[in-house]
Amino acid sequence: MTTAQAHRTAAKHHPRRIALFGGSFDPIHSGHLSVARAADRRFNFDEIHFIPASRPPHKLKQHLAPFPHRFAMVALACADHPHFVPSLAEAGEDFSGTQLHYSVDTVRYFRHTYHEPGDHIFFIIGADAFLDIPVWKEYETLLGLCDFIIANRPGIRAEALRLVIPPELTARPGSKKETEAEHPSQVVAQLHCTTVYLLENVASDVSATDIRRRAQKGQSIHGLVSARVEEYILKQGLYR
Ligand code: ATP
Repeated sequence: MTTAQAHRTAAKHHPRRIALFGGSFDPIHSGHLSVARAADRRFNFDEIHFIPASRPPHKLKQHLAPFPHRFAMVALACADHPHFVPSLAEAGEDFSGTQLHYSVDTVRYFRHTYHEPGDHIFFIIGADAFLDIPVWKEYETLLGLCDFIIANRPGIRAEALRLVIPPELTARPGSKKETEAEHPSQVVAQLHCTTVYLLENVASDVSATDIRRRAQKGQSIHGLVSARVEEYILKQGLYR
């Protein structure tokens, strides 16, 4: 490549802000979507990838709807949002979603895919899930691979979230990035290369557990999931 071509290529590249939002999504619900929209407003992403987990390592004993159903619902929920992307990152080579995947490997995969200068990866996670992070594979490495955005959930305080992060991972005072100065209350911790943010005022008590229970009892789930997802659950007879 000539120098002129290299300059043109560099000029064309617009650094991408990519959010990863993983979960069982059994089903994807309005709580997930409002977290994603709030994070998008605050951090201005180019893409938010919704990643249905294959069989989440921490939920091995729990019965999950088969991966194709969970993926289909995620795809339907993403339909109205131009930069919400349904992701097959944890579907596995045969797309069955039956192999175990760990978040640390999924983030590595996205870092490999979005590797141009200035590309920035964020990991969106609920506060309840963040409290469990010490049992995740290589969690200390994971915390250093990308920024984290924690969506608060009722009853969880920022202090409890901070305690989950090993002190040796945090940066020395004075080495803080500009972002912290701009939004001090939203930073849970400044790590050596990454930041853990708290997204406040997104707490909602919608949960997939409650939606499955309602569907099982034949109660309405209207408004708790998007209209397309509600229709899909009814047509497929899920959770009955
Ligand atoms: P379940 O009730 O089956 O445990 P869930 O409603 O917590 O499911 P998941 O698919 O397990 O949904 O969640 C994916 C991610 O979204 C997790 O990080 C979880 O903490 C977060 N999350 C789920 N519901 C909410 C909510 N209402 N507000 C904020 N975060 C949420």
